[in-house]
Amino acid sequence: MEFLYAVINFLILAALIFLFGRKPIGSMMENRRKKIQDELDAAEAAEKEPLPPPEEAGGTAPLDPEQLAQPKIQEIRAEAEESLRQVEANGQAARLEVRREAISDIHKYMVSSIREQAVRMFGSEPYASLLREREGDMVRLILSRVRLTPGDIAYLKTHDVLYVTLTSAFPLPEELVRQVGDYTDQMLAAVHGKTSFWVRQDPALLGGLCLRIGDTVYDCSVRERLYQLERKMQKDDISGTESMEDVVSALEQDIERMTDRVYLYQLGRVLTVSDGICWMDGLADIMYGEVVEFSCGDRGMVLDIQPGRIGCIIYGDYTRIESGSRVRRVGRIASVPVGDVLLGRVVDALGHAIDGKGQIRTRERRPIEFHAPAILDRASVSQPLHTGIKAIDALVPIGRGQRELIIGDRQTGKTSLAIDTIINQKGKGIVCIYVAIGQKDTTVAEVRAKLEKYGAMSYTIIVCAAASASASLQYIAPFSGTAMGEYFMYAGRDVLIVYDDLSKHSVAYRELSLLLHRPSGREAFPGDIFYLHSRLLERSAKLSDQLGGGSMTALPILETLAGDISSYIPTNVISITDGQIFLDTELFFEGQRPAVNVGLSVSRVGSAAQTRLMKQVSGSLRMKLAQYRELSGFSQFGSDVDDDTRAVLDAGIRMMTVLKQGRFAPLPDWKQALLIYAVSEGYAKDVPVEKLDIFEKKLYTYMETHFPALKQTLESGVKMDDDTRQALGAALSDFAEAQVWQDSNS
Ligand code: ATP
Ligand code: MG
Repeated sequence: MEFLYAVINFLILAALIFLFGRKPIGSMMENRRKKIQDELDAAEAAEKEPLPPPEEAGGTAPLDPEQLAQPKIQEIRAEAEESLRQVEANGQAARLEVRREAISDIHKYMVSSIREQAVRMFGSEPYASLLREREGDMVRLILSRVRLTPGDIAYLKTHDVLYVTLTSAFPLPEELVRQVGDYTDQMLAAVHGKTSFWVRQDPALLGGLCLRIGDTVYDCSVRERLYQLERKMQKDDISGTESMEDVVSALEQDIERMTDRVYLYQLGRVLTVSDGICWMDGLADIMYGEVVEFSCGDRGMVLDIQPGRIGCIIYGDYTRIESGSRVRRVGRIASVPVGDVLLGRVVDALGHAIDGKGQIRTRERRPIEFHAPAILDRASVSQPLHTGIKAIDALVPIGRGQRELIIGDRQTGKTSLAIDTIINQKGKGIVCIYVAIGQKDTTVAEVRAKLEKYGAMSYTIIVCAAASASASLQYIAPFSGTAMGEYFMYAGRDVLIVYDDLSKHSVAYRELSLLLHRPSGREAFPGDIFYLHSRLLERSAKLSDQLGGGSMTALPILETLAGDISSYIPTNVISITDGQIFLDTELFFEGQRPAVNVGLSVSRVGSAAQTRLMKQVSGSLRMKLAQYRELSGFSQFGSDVDDDTRAVLDAGIRMMTVLKQGRFAPLPDWKQALLIYAVSEGYAKDVPVEKLDIFEKKLYTYMETHFPALKQTLESGVKMDDDTRQALGAALSDFAEAQVWQDSNS
């Protein structure tokens, strides 16, 4: 018990160091300039005071908090002054951020000084002897927890011995060693195995001992406690509003709870590292998708389990990982932070902020791989997700919970289409997630700037694994984005997720698979690439009312080569999704933008979600446009066409022209319906093609100013009855006769 208190006292004392250096930060949080100035003066005065004479070696000498905090005061002073300038410049939001940063600085400082203290303290008396007195208790504690894992049993089936290593910071009494040896011998004899028992001494433990059985470590060492404390502090959720006293006392409590525990984890060893892939052995009970941590602190995710070796992808930089170094299970499946705090942020594939707006602080996480909702958990698609783009809402409508592929050659406006759709969700309560995979950093920056400009960033999350990111991160990114979306979907909200683009995702996965030595199939892609995309896209759904009725609409993007939609990845994704929007290079260069190819684009479920009005006015549109495309092909050969054909061509060319739409100009549903109705019913037949844009603009203002009631009816989206149709017909005839498009001043 005495030892326990000694350790607690030491750790609390270390915490107190911060109370000393805390005041300048505390006052900064209140943003009272005067008070801060006072504190800074006080700090300055403290600096000038002579240091107390150093105490004798041993005893409590290294624990004098005042002495230790001296260099920190200067640092905090400089930081406080700098932060003060920021706070004054940026107001409330910055104040909160400064506060957060101050607290996380405290965490970092606390960890490093506790470590320093521990090294000094446990090497000297009386702590060293106190620790040694506790060795018997530690052994008993460990033996009470020791179990054989399924991994150990499996190992024993092929090898008849299991390695057991007892490591301690100081030489252990023989009696304790014998106790451990006998216990493990008995435990293994019960499953017909033998022990190969080793005893080691390792000063790096700082104090205490640990027992390794197979790959499992039961750790009672000081080193492990410090490691756990560090991790806990990194994970700590700081809102930035708590007082410094709260932070320090919470830490003290953590520290107290840490003194009488055994930490349990599994270890392995790095065999080889190359190209972002690492092969390891050990880690007997590891699972697919689990996170592992290397001794340098970098992490990875297990993607391949073979007898005798485990393959994992490494997050980020792999050059710091060395062959032969230790690797440990973190004890969780790969996951990302989720929640409302992510809205408006740009994060990498692991959910770390990369927009310079400070860390993402949330406790809530979701696994990046999650099962898709079962059939009974789903409802059919019934609500529209308006893109605001005429050619899409009228011809290939999208419903909430649908998966609609955007496919086309490079530079055909795929990204633009998705971004316009996100911009159109403003004020509709839909959370948008834009996942950039293998895009240029500049493209992503541009997307972000555009979303900010049009006020769409407040409800959008950008998940970015740019071309410069490793293949592992590019592979993870869409799954991370989906996990973030699922959080909102299962909370009953509507989500729109764009994967830009899955071709680059396939290439990243192909790279990883080949490095993992998996057999390659068609176009050198691995055989499970279909499964990869289907398990990703199946997670987008419209949930049933029992599950809250949330939805996730997916817009995956694919790039084709020379319009070839029959190559491997496009055919896969086309068959997974509920339809595709095919963007045609030829149309794009003809000036038909967005370049939607009406013949090849379909929406298999979206029409159920179209408003009744839109369905009514656009019912025969697809057929008419198909007819027009066919006839326009012929008419190019000869100029002599009969009147009927001419009429079809004229109507077609007008309709194609009004379907053109600039970027960042989404239109509400009623305007689209009105325009399509006006043109398809022939009210624009006398308008010259080049004046159709004026016709369009004037039509909207005309309706809004002269027929507000009619406009309201259209806005409600209900099917037009005969009265409405007549009233609209009369209004449009008047409008057409007025020939307002002649007025070119608009
Ligand atoms: P990439 O293959 O490089 O990803 P992409 O298919 O995503 O290209 P975008 O980047 O969206 O294509 O667009 C390509 C170009 O076309 C851009 O310069 C964009 O401004 C232009 N563009 C896209 N849509 C329209 C539109 N509706 N009206 C006018 N210009 C457009
Ligand atoms: Mg693009």
